[in-house]
Amino acid sequence: MKTITEPAREIELAAETEILIIGGGPAGIAAATAAARCGGRVMLLEKYGFLGGMGTAAMVTNFCGLHASINGSIQQIIRGVADDILERLDKLDGLREPHPVRATGGGHDVAAQAYDTSAYKMATDDLLLSAGVDIRFHTFAVGAIMNGARIDAVLVETKSGRKAIKAEMFIDCSGDGDLAYWSGADCVKGDHNGFMAYPTTMFRVANVDDDKVHKEGKPNLSDLIAAASKDYDLPRKTGVLGSQPHAGEWRVNLTQISRDGTPIDGSDWNDLGFAETEGRRQSQEYFRFLKDRVPGFENSYLLETAPQVGIRETRRIVGEYVLSKDDILSCRDFEGSIGCNGWPLEQHLKGSAKWTFLGGRGYHQIPYGTTLPKGVDNLLVAGRCASTTPEGQASLRVSGPCFAMGQAVGTAAELARQKGVTPTKIDVKVLQNKLVSDGAFIGDI
Ligand SMILES: Cc1cc2nc3c(=O)[nH]c(=O)nc-3n(C[C@H](O)[C@H](O)[C@H](O)COP(=O)(O)OP(=O)(O)OC[C@H]3O[C@@H](n4cnc5c(N)ncnc54)[C@H](O)[C@@H]3O)c2cc1C
Repeated sequence: MKTITEPAREIELAAETEILIIGGGPAGIAAATAAARCGGRVMLLEKYGFLGGMGTAAMVTNFCGLHASINGSIQQIIRGVADDILERLDKLDGLREPHPVRATGGGHDVAAQAYDTSAYKMATDDLLLSAGVDIRFHTFAVGAIMNGARIDAVLVETKSGRKAIKAEMFIDCSGDGDLAYWSGADCVKGDHNGFMAYPTTMFRVANVDDDKVHKEGKPNLSDLIAAASKDYDLPRKTGVLGSQPHAGEWRVNLTQISRDGTPIDGSDWNDLGFAETEGRRQSQEYFRFLKDRVPGFENSYLLETAPQVGIRETRRIVGEYVLSKDDILSCRDFEGSIGCNGWPLEQHLKGSAKWTFLGGRGYHQIPYGTTLPKGVDNLLVAGRCASTTPEGQASLRVSGPCFAMGQAVGTAAELARQKGVTPTKIDVKVLQNKLVSDGAFIGDI
């Protein structure tokens, strides 16, 4: 690798705040809202001009993990800040009622809930602004300045140049563990072979004949793909077609982005760049297949491809506790519970996704330790980069548990800041009582 030396330079200290959050996806949205409601002065940095993370930027347009099957009935288990988002989305007419996701191969059914991207952006703007969060859009965090084991400041790139922002507590909700990695916390990427879940470029299709798809097309998607494989280039053999809140509009979760069969790395700029053109190429091909071969899609048109390739997995911290497949599938309880999750393991493997549904009670508790990185004193981490095994991440990464973890770390960061202690030293009972009084469901404690 060739290098050049960048001259040292003075940069503007653009702001000093109490709690600084990197990333405005589900985890960051909930973290910022909770921390501000607890009384903290909160700034959130987001590289795009809107909130929602993969939910808007990758056009996921569907909440998974908000519900679990408890004693045979599907109930909402992610509450608190999530309720405030759902209420706002509903008011904006941007939310569909929950639809069942049928368990295959044993375990319980779950549910998911589709939403409109624009409504999600507006609902979350309103949520954070009304909580008093200082949202800084178009602000790309690029590095950390350390003072021993503490983060002193985060470096950002903006249209007005490079700047620094200081804070007392930091929360990494970047999805990629960017701040954890820069500050030297223990991190890993993928499984022991470096394999990460395949990414997907999402697209939406309009003018679909809803009745016809429900009646004839959707249940046979895998068969239709198999029958079409000679005539189309379709690397993924199973996937999801989901109807959106408004008539005739469907989301398509079908592409699978790789280089020569190997998943691209969403934390590598070369791979990310390649993935965008490849994702749009595949979207065209899958759309051609849908229009030709799936009943109900004959007169549809390709409404929109996602602003960015959808990244499911990159770095994860190795935190105080590493949540595993066994913890999830055995519906394990934890003394330090900060929330619950009942979403199945959804592993995106070559050609398809492998689903493993929870049995038993239908949900497990999420321990506080999954959000506590090792080696950095004033940092918490929430979302898809929290501390899990790769299989654990295949369940814990969806929006519902990310909201739960986000609300917990936002609350914990402010509790720690007010007490003048590190997040590892707060009284978890106090955190739990606060979460429950703020409407969160954390299971029996
Ligand atoms: C194709 C696909 C389909 C999915 N389907 C579903 C589904 O149907 N339902 C569901 O619930 N979940 C689904 N998921 C999973 C879910 O969307 C994500 O795992 C979830 O959004 C993770 O939330 P997060 O807050 O941890 O991170 P993200 O959603 O990734 O948000 C991270 C945010 O941080 C910002 N950011 C990152 N780095 C920086 C930086 N250095 N500086 C400033 N900002 C930064 C990003 O722009 C982004 O807004 C899907 C994911 C993919 C990729």
